[in-house]
Amino acid sequence: MSTRSPRSRATARSATELARHELARHHHRPTQARLAILATLAPLDQPVFVNDLISEVTDVPTSTVYATLRQLVDWGLVSRLDSIRGRSYYCLPRRHDAPMLCAVCTRCGHLTVVDPSPGTGHEPPARYHRALTRAGITAIERVDIYGVCRDCAT
Ligand SMILES: [Zn+2]
Repeated sequence: MSTRSPRSRATARSATELARHELARHHHRPTQARLAILATLAPLDQPVFVNDLISEVTDVPTSTVYATLRQLVDWGLVSRLDSIRGRSYYCLPRRHDAPMLCAVCTRCGHLTVVDPSPGTGHEPPARYHRALTRAGITAIERVDIYGVCRDCAT
C-alpha cells in the first residue's frame, strides 16, 4: 500500500474472522474475494483509495475486486465514498449518529474522514444544519470540506 495507507489496528487473522462472521450473518458465501476485501478494510481507520485496495488484495484479479466491491456495496457491507474526478474510496460501514465529515483535496482528490468516530464534538456547526434543512435535506449523511492537502501544498 502507499504511504498514505491508514494504519492497521487488528491482525490479519482476526480481520478475516470478522469478515467471515459478517458474511455469514448476512447469508452470503465467504468467497476468497469477499473475505480478502472485507479483511483488508476491517482494520483501517480511514477509507482506502480503490487503487490502494487493489494493490493490497493481490491474489484476486482486478476485475473481480471491482465486481465484488459493487456487490458488497449493494449489500451494505461496504461503503463507497466518492471523491472528485471519479476517485472512489471504500471502508466498512460506520455507525454514526452525526454526519460523516470528509476532507477532500481539490488537487489530488485524496479523501480523509476527519471525524471517524461520532460524539467527539467535530459535528458541523448548527448553522449548516439549518441551511441544509432549508434546502430540503433533513438527514445529513456526509459533509465534505474541500481544500489542498499537505502533500499537494508543498
Ligand atoms: Zn492533495
